[in-house]
Amino acid sequence: MARAIIITGGNMGDVKPRLRQAQQMINAGIGIVLRCSHVYESKAWGFTAADDFKNQAMEVDTDLAPEELLAALQEIEGRLGRDREAEAAEKARTGEPYSSRLIDIDIIFYDDAVVDTPRLKLPHPLMQERDFVLAPLAEIAPEKVHPVLGKTVEQLRGELLARQAAVHNGEA
Ligand code: AMP
Repeated sequence: MARAIIITGGNMGDVKPRLRQAQQMINAGIGIVLRCSHVYESKAWGFTAADDFKNQAMEVDTDLAPEELLAALQEIEGRLGRDREAEAAEKARTGEPYSSRLIDIDIIFYDDAVVDTPRLKLPHPLMQERDFVLAPLAEIAPEKVHPVLGKTVEQLRGELLARQAAVHNGEA
């Protein structure tokens, strides 16, 4: 049994009920959801989008191996209407690296596993740069230590907010 921390999110249509459905599907098909953060709202990260994102973090006990977990989460994304081809077309049209989406589910941590394959990277490589990940994570697992960076979620969030404030104040 492993403990995974997962982030769900989206910015198209009525996101909150979809996040609730994702949570129920994860609980039914992947493993017991032990803890769940509130839903956090933030501006799109890395691209311009008309609608803000909503994100939620959850802690799940699962018997699935990391690759199986990724496949199961992608299957849930598909059942909730995620259309990767439409997203690819939208990215090609706008030239942006990301696009709006109905649902996105990422694995942030899988116990203390460190994985670096073309399909799966753990811990999620950009988690320490994204407050839409760190804010909900800090609510449910503030003391969780990043197995590579050796810092807690709370420390990583403090450092990110300090870097963002420095940029905002013209210090960086
Ligand atoms: P997405 O953000 O859903 O568009 O993810 C694009 C790709 O990231 C997927 O096809 C996954 O194979 C890959 N990926 C790598 N690491 C992760 C991770 N920790 N969680 C989710 N997807 C991942």
